[in-house]
Amino acid sequence: MRYAEVSVNSPVAQRRTFSYAIPSGLNIKAGQAVWIPFGEKILQGIVLELSPYPAVEETREIIDVIEPHPLLSPAQIMLARWISEYYLSPLFDAVALMLPPGFERKALTFVSISPDLGDRSLSSLTPEQRHIFELVQKQGRASLKELERRLGKKKAQTIVSQLVGRGFAIRNYELEPVKISPKRVSYLRLKVTPRQAQEIAARLREKRPTKQANLLDFLAEQSEPVPWAEARQRTGCEKAVAEILVGKGLATFQQVEIKRETISYQNITLSSPLELTAAQESAFKAIKDALHGTKVPPKVFLLHGVTGSGKTEIYLRALAETVKLGKRGIALVPEIALTPQTIERFAARFPHRVAVLHSQLSPREQFDEWQSIKNGEFDVVIGPRSALFAPQPELGLIILDEEHEWTYKQPDKSPRYHARSTAIKLAELTGAVVILGSATPDIESFYYARNGRYHLLQLTERVVPVEKSPMPKVEVVDLREELKSGNRSIFSRSLTQAITRAVTNREQVILFLNRRGGATFIQCRNCGFVLRCRRCEVTLTHHFTEDVLICHQCNQKTPVPQICPRCSSRRIKSLGIGTQKLEQEANYSFPRAQTLRWDSDITKRKESHATILSKFRDHQADILIGTQMVAKGLDLPQVTLVGVVTADTSLNLPDFRAGERTFQLLSQVAGRAGRGPLGGQVIIQTFSPEHYAIQAAAKHDYVSFYNKEIDYRRQLRNPPFTHLALLTYSHTNDALCQREAERMKTQLITERDAKGIADLNLIGPAPAFIHRLRGRFRWQIILRGTDLPTFLSPISLPQGWTVDIDPVSLL
Ligand code: ADP
Ligand code: ZN
Ligand code: ZN
Repeated sequence: MRYAEVSVNSPVAQRRTFSYAIPSGLNIKAGQAVWIPFGEKILQGIVLELSPYPAVEETREIIDVIEPHPLLSPAQIMLARWISEYYLSPLFDAVALMLPPGFERKALTFVSISPDLGDRSLSSLTPEQRHIFELVQKQGRASLKELERRLGKKKAQTIVSQLVGRGFAIRNYELEPVKISPKRVSYLRLKVTPRQAQEIAARLREKRPTKQANLLDFLAEQSEPVPWAEARQRTGCEKAVAEILVGKGLATFQQVEIKRETISYQNITLSSPLELTAAQESAFKAIKDALHGTKVPPKVFLLHGVTGSGKTEIYLRALAETVKLGKRGIALVPEIALTPQTIERFAARFPHRVAVLHSQLSPREQFDEWQSIKNGEFDVVIGPRSALFAPQPELGLIILDEEHEWTYKQPDKSPRYHARSTAIKLAELTGAVVILGSATPDIESFYYARNGRYHLLQLTERVVPVEKSPMPKVEVVDLREELKSGNRSIFSRSLTQAITRAVTNREQVILFLNRRGGATFIQCRNCGFVLRCRRCEVTLTHHFTEDVLICHQCNQKTPVPQICPRCSSRRIKSLGIGTQKLEQEANYSFPRAQTLRWDSDITKRKESHATILSKFRDHQADILIGTQMVAKGLDLPQVTLVGVVTADTSLNLPDFRAGERTFQLLSQVAGRAGRGPLGGQVIIQTFSPEHYAIQAAAKHDYVSFYNKEIDYRRQLRNPPFTHLALLTYSHTNDALCQREAERMKTQLITERDAKGIADLNLIGPAPAFIHRLRGRFRWQIILRGTDLPTFLSPISLPQGWTVDIDPVSLL
């Protein structure tokens, strides 16, 4: 094995590896990080394969290893290759998913004296060469940067090259150090004994500086030193008070370096396994059999059960079983910040054996966590989609909670992978079992579960008896009727009454509004009719500037009608409202209620999810107004009413998944109500009360929704009956953008016809739903067929194009 196939960290490398010779003396393994020469540069690479022969005639040599141990496991290497081939991403982008955080750094070059000078004589060196040689010799080793600073870049490089070429010196490479220091925390320590402190405190109190006395007493009571932040919080003293104590020589501040555990166990009570219900038992048994390998495939389970049906308990038991078998797990959640309860339950069952990966960790902490995971210190790694690539050894179980969530797809960065498909691939490579859990499974997942590709497990009832915690009652309000009876407010009579009642009773209300899409579609306010493309069935989008309707799939343009094509009413217009407007309206209509807004504008600007949430939980507001975020798995027992201000914004998005998306959102939002002893009610306002997605959500009936939806998918040849790829071209010039998109379409048609592929449709080009983004126009082409990666792989896409295989959204 004298050659290595290396994935190189360079944009030029694209989807291929490069052959390098392995110099004698270097012990190279697959998965190892190495320095390699690439053109004029020294770059990082990851060895993916060893072979006795090079793939090309001329090879250069690997320079050195970066880390002594392989960073990628054999399964990860295969997974990276699969990601690159399937999602058509550069190979190194896929490899990089699995590297330790902060790994992609620059190479630093060091120069040292050759260990074997032989009979080389210094007298053969020029004065300058000699000067450098002696400098290096004196220091043991010198960084090239430093030499460059002394002598100038060019000169330093030339002389070093000469010294190396003549065998006087050698070069070594190292990664730039991680630019972060360990986390330090400020502690306040007593400098006197606790007893003395108490005596002093008593004396102080007589003279009335009570704050100092309180702080002293607090410190005296502690058995261990406390972080200052905690002391401040518990005593209510400002820093100035502590500084006075320090000034008097009674206490001192100390910086302590800490390695934080990523979970705080302070408020976690350990839990033990619950006795399973019959339904849970039978689901668990199937998973257990798969873990033990006593059952034939599939090893992918779709665990379908309403919120509260006991899915999480099954995850915990499956993990315990995995651990019993000497293996480990990975649990993915849609968004760490929104799933504290799930994490706590894992931590309570597997104390100090849970790693949580989240973006609030500093780079240093992320790196430490990665190392600890690789050392096998955790039973389970919990995190967002990227946690799938954690170096968890002996992987036996992968869980995707809320598997239908779109956050599992990497949206705007290569590789645009879906964590679900990738998890299933990884499981195939490692023999692990996969559990996909959801109350409203993705239509594709449910389809695969029904036709045997996955194993379907269903929990049909809540664990807690139904009388105590029934599914909330859902009322659908027809907004057309409201208008007919003269109510032009955005709150229907029903919703107004319900809000007033809840607020009067000191209960809490959530108002949900899906803002995306806003006022971009046109709807008849008399009959609810929405204009759709005749060919694509998707909603037409209203472009205000040109005042036309455009289909964002096929680019068909239609004038804006003056009367409704269905009922001839003149009240056909675009409508829409954002969360900000909604908050104003709520303040106006319910002057005695406190409102709180929660959307991405707010969380980006000032307050974190956690702050807003805890404010609401502490009842500092009566009405929480928000977008999707309010729909995620939060437990707010005081909420008795959830109002969906309009279900139509998401229903009328120009995407074939609009119905599915609406059903999921409404089901989730509805799940927010009635989680406490007070019970709950949901009111959905809409102009399309008869739509099957709304009807099914109102009845908490996933299966009837699925049956309708899958029929439409079949008729229109949409996934899961086909696959899609979304090609997007962006450019600052709109006309050029359109031309390039049209040229690409022609090229794709030529390729398709030359290969005689019958079942491949090309839709578009059309302007993207968000036509202009950050100053660039975007046009897109949709491909619909079966094996799209294979078709697209040999086609070279000029710069400016992106490919999204299996996109979750066509917007
Ligand atoms: P899901 O994940 O489907 O929302 P959970 O696993 O969170 O459901 O279960 C809902 C509630 O029921 C939790 O409070 C959980 O502790 C409790 N629970 C789950 N399984 C059992 C069981 N077998 N016996 C008693 N309580 C259970
Ligand atoms: Zn009409
Ligand atoms: Zn169309």
